[in-house]
Amino acid sequence: MSQRQTAVGNNEGNEIFAGNDDGLAKIQNFEGKYPKQLWALFFSEMWERFCFYGMRGMLTIFMVEKLLLSEKDANLRYGAIQAFVYAFTFIGGLFADKVLGFRKSLVWGALLMIAGSFTVAAAPENLFYIGTCLTIVGTGFFKPNISTMVGALYRSDDARRDAGFGLFYSGINIGAFLGGILMVMVGKYYSWSIAFSLAGIVMIISMITFILTKKNLGPIGLSPLEKVPEGKRKTYEIAVYIGSLLVLPIVWLLVTNTAYTDMFMYIIGPVTLIYLFMEMRKYSSVERNKLLAALVFIIFSILFWAFFEQSGGSLSLFALYNLHHSFFGINLDPNVVNNSANSVFVIIFSPIAGLIWVALAKKKLEPNTVVKFGLGFVFLALAFWVFFYSRNFADANGLTSLEIFTLAYFVITFGELCLSPIGLSIMTKLAPKPMQGLMMGMWFLASAYGQYVAGLLGAGMATADENAPLTDKLIAYTDGYKQLAIYALVAGLVLLIISPLVRKLMHEVK
Ligand code: GLN
Repeated sequence: MSQRQTAVGNNEGNEIFAGNDDGLAKIQNFEGKYPKQLWALFFSEMWERFCFYGMRGMLTIFMVEKLLLSEKDANLRYGAIQAFVYAFTFIGGLFADKVLGFRKSLVWGALLMIAGSFTVAAAPENLFYIGTCLTIVGTGFFKPNISTMVGALYRSDDARRDAGFGLFYSGINIGAFLGGILMVMVGKYYSWSIAFSLAGIVMIISMITFILTKKNLGPIGLSPLEKVPEGKRKTYEIAVYIGSLLVLPIVWLLVTNTAYTDMFMYIIGPVTLIYLFMEMRKYSSVERNKLLAALVFIIFSILFWAFFEQSGGSLSLFALYNLHHSFFGINLDPNVVNNSANSVFVIIFSPIAGLIWVALAKKKLEPNTVVKFGLGFVFLALAFWVFFYSRNFADANGLTSLEIFTLAYFVITFGELCLSPIGLSIMTKLAPKPMQGLMMGMWFLASAYGQYVAGLLGAGMATADENAPLTDKLIAYTDGYKQLAIYALVAGLVLLIISPLVRKLMHEVK
């Protein structure tokens, strides 16, 4: 066994962070429900998501209204941008592990996102794509690494970790909710320039929040090259900074030619898998088993997001065509519900779910991660069954109940809470320290695939043509939702069946 294998193999999960480090032990031995550093990461991520979801909300409308793209092209380009954003988290995670460390990656990502937002703001019509490319690469450096730092606040045996990620996840959704509403309103009704500037301003707040908190993070997120001579380390770091700028024209090419998206998606997944398997050879068999378990969770999450992300596609069209504009007697645009209900439910229920996990852990009743994922799929199945069942409330014109639609979002949120924050948490438990960024990047790469497959599924459901009667559209979409409900249930059952195997692979990790 090589020296590195011994060093890594004798340590489990985050304990390698600890070593002899008092600073880390102090952070991880916190009292109460949450470590205090979590709040800074919470706010920093909240503002980043404000910027991200604000930009995301504006993308399609902006491309149609200002860049005069057809709706079809705008949708395709939107899908490509989303896929690339999440695909770059893999690269951001990888370079954080190898060269920059989480802190510098995060600040570099924030700087790129700030530059991206202000670039678009300076001349929205002309600089849109170059600004978007900066944002894509920037998010890649920011997003996975802040989540990994949340995990590092906990000892590997600390049962409070899932609750911490639950709280962090509320922050994500507060940002998503506010950004999604405010920036789209400012852009659409006031000025696109100001809306994109707002994205830049909130990113500055995000970055400052993080920089101010760095001193409380002990050794968390420091460079993996601490022991390499300073000059050499600086050279590597500068190479990463320059490399990430040099890659911008390629990203630009990929985003502006959506035909390349398919190619990119076919290549990046297999390449990351090959890379992962090569890296795995450096570790002990216990470590390798845990990484395989992480891979199982990652693969199931692709399926989850492929269904869940119907919200941005087929469900928004379903909301547009087939829903009453009345919510318990109040006039409400169904698309507003479609775009915000999930965030609102997450904000309310995520901390509560976290506290339930902690309470169950105290009674030794907390379900393990495989069961939580299984539950995630059961809720997903139930939610799509409700979307399907809503057809029974339709009137003769094919319009159905907004209340039932909202109920489905309520149910799907519990599925998300059993899978998404838990997934972040389990990545930080199962990956050895030198691979934490990479595995977090792979977790988000699964979201890229999820988004991609979601588009294909949604297109497959759009069987009624555009001018078909609304009743036909209702039947077409709800038939699709019934299928998704069945597949989600099957996925949940498969997870339950293979759970003994996955738990074996996870060793002592729950
Ligand atoms: N909504 C969550 C976020 O923005 C999860 C995104 C995802 O992994 N698809 O972080």
